[in-house]
Amino acid sequence: MLLTNWKNLAAALCLLAGLLAVITPAPALAFDTAADDELLLLVNGIHRIDRAYQPDDLVDTAKKAPSKKSRMLLREPAAAAYTDMIAAYQAENKRPLYSLSAFRTYAYQSRLFSGKVASRQRAGQNYLTAYRNTLQYTALPGTSEHQTGLAIDMTTNGALSDSFRDTTQGKWLLENCWDFGFILRYDEAKTDLTAIAYEPWHYRYVGLPHSLIIRDNDWVLEEYIAALQEQGMLEYADPQDTGSVWRIYWTDDTAQEFADVQSVSSDNTGGYIITTKVSLIDSLLNEWSLAALTADSLLVMPV
Ligand SMILES: [Zn+2]
Repeated sequence: MLLTNWKNLAAALCLLAGLLAVITPAPALAFDTAADDELLLLVNGIHRIDRAYQPDDLVDTAKKAPSKKSRMLLREPAAAAYTDMIAAYQAENKRPLYSLSAFRTYAYQSRLFSGKVASRQRAGQNYLTAYRNTLQYTALPGTSEHQTGLAIDMTTNGALSDSFRDTTQGKWLLENCWDFGFILRYDEAKTDLTAIAYEPWHYRYVGLPHSLIIRDNDWVLEEYIAALQEQGMLEYADPQDTGSVWRIYWTDDTAQEFADVQSVSSDNTGGYIITTKVSLIDSLLNEWSLAALTADSLLVMPV
């Protein structure tokens, strides 16, 4: 009897040791702003991007996926995800799908904008009307996320049109882009938030799991960043990885400490988005207090 009790106690102690090993959190460290991958930059009319901003990891996707241009530059993580996405599209579809525009410099954006205003003026609009109409579809220099190398415009035929939404290609992208880390940036129902007209052709890379969180909450990027700022942290259970939970933080305090950091991105609003991943057991155990784990509850657990 005594021996059995000893065995039970030994087993319980082993279990306790194992459990404590599992729930001992990784050491928290102040995050490294030098590791900023800038994949979650919010760029819009309010949160502008510097004239000199140019990413240093641009990759030409024109040779890897059909394009209407001879060069089609995206930042390296976006380019890798984009070519995977197009390969997946081609595996299921025969209809042609091309890229039309990706990275643009500030100077190009500037020429593009003034060129569109001028062509509207030539068509008979006065300057103010031409300017306002251009602003609906074409970002002012410094407010275009094409300058980040994370955005790409897609086409079936070389034109950009609302009817892209109704094509096989447009429908496929809208359904599947999220799984590859892309989002539809300018949603038809959210033009009051984005201040840009619906653009069914414009896709933006934010990376996983952020694209899935944005999809599942029916957010645009403005809403995602606002939610993070308001709540400070949100959790996302990854359906592809049931043993882990993503925990995404927002902070503007670079001395704040975080554990299990996967990536860090500035958001262009003055803060950082810290992407961490914790084991499911850590996530669940944090919900309970450790005090609830009494010796009694341990001993009744199967050993
Ligand atoms: Zn675009």
